[in-house]
Amino acid sequence: MTKSVRVRFAPSPTGYFHLGSARSALYNWLFARHEGGRFILRIEDTDRTRYDPRALPDLLDSMRWLGLCWDEGPEVGGEYGPYYQSDRVHLYQEYARQLVAEGRAYRCYCSPERLAKLREEQRRAGLTPGYDRHCRYLSAREIADYEAQGIVPVIRLAAPTEGTTEFDDLLRGHIVVNNNQLDDLVLLKSDGFPTYHLANVVDDHLMAITHILRGEEWLSSVPKHVLLYDAFGWEMPVQVHLPNILDPSGKGKLSKRKKKAPGEREMLTYIHEFREAGYLPEAMVNFLALVGWSYDGTREYFTRSELVRLFDLSSVSKSPAAFSYEKLDHMNATYIRNLGYNDLAGRLLQTLFRQGIEADFFTVLKLVPLIRERIQTLNEAAKWVDFVFAAQIDYDTEMLIPRKMDRADALKALRAAREALAEAEPFDEEHIEGRLRALSDALGLKASALLGIIRVATTGKTVAPPLFGTLSILGRETTLARIEAAIARLE
Ligand code: GLU
Repeated sequence: MTKSVRVRFAPSPTGYFHLGSARSALYNWLFARHEGGRFILRIEDTDRTRYDPRALPDLLDSMRWLGLCWDEGPEVGGEYGPYYQSDRVHLYQEYARQLVAEGRAYRCYCSPERLAKLREEQRRAGLTPGYDRHCRYLSAREIADYEAQGIVPVIRLAAPTEGTTEFDDLLRGHIVVNNNQLDDLVLLKSDGFPTYHLANVVDDHLMAITHILRGEEWLSSVPKHVLLYDAFGWEMPVQVHLPNILDPSGKGKLSKRKKKAPGEREMLTYIHEFREAGYLPEAMVNFLALVGWSYDGTREYFTRSELVRLFDLSSVSKSPAAFSYEKLDHMNATYIRNLGYNDLAGRLLQTLFRQGIEADFFTVLKLVPLIRERIQTLNEAAKWVDFVFAAQIDYDTEMLIPRKMDRADALKALRAAREALAEAEPFDEEHIEGRLRALSDALGLKASALLGIIRVATTGKTVAPPLFGTLSILGRETTLARIEAAIARLE
């Protein structure tokens, strides 16, 4: 019988939750769901110098927003906890001491100054910097001396100095590293805190992790981890190193923070930024799934449950994938168009509130058919509908006068429109259209010119949602009041 799948996402709370991390979390989640396994969230927070208190709330919110719910971890608990490494420090210390007792690790008393000097000498001699294993072969007497001086040691792994270290990566095949390239890595620092390597390996083992899916940048750590698994006599989980995400040009790695050049679009990289910019979580999930995985190379749209059903590790690519904002925008627009009207109205209402527009659900619901084809993000709705909820609109009076017409013409058209719209009964799209088309004939004006004047008068914009529907939503009273105000401006 094969072991049931247990995977983990193990972020360090050092900054906001980034696209690349979200992609790793998603692949772990999809794989767990596909296999009927467990998805564990573990917080690797032992590096106190890089700790950022904003990171954890941002992570948990963003993961939940994306729907990447975890089966074990913070706020959820589980049998393998605690899930914060800072609560597990005693475990790492025990395991490090166990290795020392077995002769597989040793205490190192070298001062930071000695190590810096060593590195400097190695650098000058053109050697790769590394620890010279000075403390590995200390006599009992020398050790006692250091201890008597009160020097607090670190614990280092006694790595093999000859031979090779080998492992398999599911995507990258068999990897061989010469042991003379591996250092006696530090496992426990002098403050008693573990290094990433020790804590990560101990936890993956104690939490019974079966597969490790993480970014390609961690591949170079694996040989060190192999040595640790060997030292403990533990079986190493299956290794899967996911391809890097490249920036839209396909040249560099998608960086955490990119300054935009003037005129260039802002490159969002944190999940909360996408959320705030009005992307839908279902579009983000669909989109991120495709950054490094494909089903058949052509199909692009997948619901969450289709992804769970179809996702498999053998179709994950090992070559880096470029991130395309255009493709995400397009996908987001498609997801918006495919939402039910009530659902979209609900999301738009929240977005409008956040943007300071006091909209109401039923009006937004009526606006949905007029704007849903026109927006790529939820945030873009505001510029299409803000005038509906504004007590007053403002615009440049000159905008009321179409080209090749003068002030008197515009005034005449608006006065006639006021009469025509006062009589439209009922005040709905069909009757408004009938009245205004008849009016443009009667005035001998092109419909586009007449409607243009009324559009500016009632919305304050030259580009707005379809006019007849818009006026019916504004209602007769507001429509006439705004036309009245426009007449007053022109008079
Ligand atoms: N804490 C590491 C990180 O920040 C985890 C890497 C891994 O998955 O092993 O990404």
